[in-house]
Amino acid sequence: MKILVMNAGSSSQKSCLYEIGNALPAKVPEPLWEAKIDWTHQPNVAELKVTTGKGELKAELPADDRPQVIQQLLQSLWTGETQVIADPQEITVVGHRVVHGGQDYHSSIRITPDVKAAIDRLSALAPVHNPANLEGIEAIEQFLGDVPQVAVFDTAFHAQMPDAAAIYPGEYDWVEKGIRRYGFHGTSHRYCADRVAELMGRNLNELRLITCHLGNGCSLAAIQNGHSIDTTMGFTPLDGLMMGTRSGSVDPSILIYLMRQEGYTADQLDQVLNKKSGLLGISGISNDLRSITEAIEFGNTRAKLALDIYIHRLRRELGGMLMSLGGLDGLVFTGGVGENSARVRSAACEPLSWLGIKLDPHQFVSREDTLISAPDSATSVWVIHTQEDWTIARDCWEILVNS
Ligand code: ADP
Repeated sequence: MKILVMNAGSSSQKSCLYEIGNALPAKVPEPLWEAKIDWTHQPNVAELKVTTGKGELKAELPADDRPQVIQQLLQSLWTGETQVIADPQEITVVGHRVVHGGQDYHSSIRITPDVKAAIDRLSALAPVHNPANLEGIEAIEQFLGDVPQVAVFDTAFHAQMPDAAAIYPGEYDWVEKGIRRYGFHGTSHRYCADRVAELMGRNLNELRLITCHLGNGCSLAAIQNGHSIDTTMGFTPLDGLMMGTRSGSVDPSILIYLMRQEGYTADQLDQVLNKKSGLLGISGISNDLRSITEAIEFGNTRAKLALDIYIHRLRRELGGMLMSLGGLDGLVFTGGVGENSARVRSAACEPLSWLGIKLDPHQFVSREDTLISAPDSATSVWVIHTQEDWTIARDCWEILVNS
């Protein structure tokens, strides 16, 4: 079965095509075709890049005609240098990453008019992402007809969080209005939890895990009985840890202060908190940890402060997740920072030494998922290469096989 994955974000659309036979493979397969549209890298220009084992396509297209750009992306599957299928009919199913599934969706689901209406309704909670996800679903309807489509929600893995973790202690009205902690990065946290249970040779339902997804966006999840019971992101992906350009949690009174004293509008606050804060905001250099660590080597004190805050908040939130679980069987690092920065992993784990959690001093991490704790560590610590697109493809396969 050929499965097309559509992963639409605020500034990009990533897609890939997997082929899965009658059984799920033991190892994550390479996709047959990968494509990316960058909507914002150049003003008014959409950059399309497609790669396959055989060829490559690069194009610059007018960004204002978005359906046309998505059509070009899809057509590269069956035409030109990047052709991997003879006919669009060969695509069995299309899986979409959908950021917000609200409280109703606990798992991935076949897209129906009702599901589309729910994604649309939830755009109020994810104004940048859900409309982009819906756009992808509608583009498939337009260009591929009535191929089955599946929605894989970022929020689903967290949807069974207990009320005590999910409900904010504001006015009770908020509960009725759906203002609560939803959590995000669920597909990544779920993949890492499944994968680490497999590597540990244990049943996921018996394990207490913390998964640290540290990329441009960062979140932790506390996992028990196979689902998330607490997480650092909240009503939106702004809550919790310090991130590349997002502040994470700040005292809400700061916003009231800025509105009253400096006349900030809602849009300006949104810009500051989401785009101008975090590693970028404090360092003034970059949202990319590699540039921050380089600047630290040259003695840049703001870069050093940015990393110090990042680490402090990571440790603090790790402590919170640990207490929500009341114990720990495995700790996982994933995402661009989690997979690549031994410095961040070491700093995050240092205070855990009093619990007997120790990292292997060499932390040799290959392209494979790796155990990085010392042999005498009380709890195992892992680097897992997250596979969100593969998880979406796997969900599609399971839904179709079982329907
Ligand atoms: P996204 O959240 O956009 O999917 P990624 O998970 O790919 O992002 O993470 C991107 C971030 O990972 C970069 O901004 C950078 O800070 C970090 N990163 C990538 N490679 C390295 C590395 N070798 N060392 C440290 N940080 C890295």
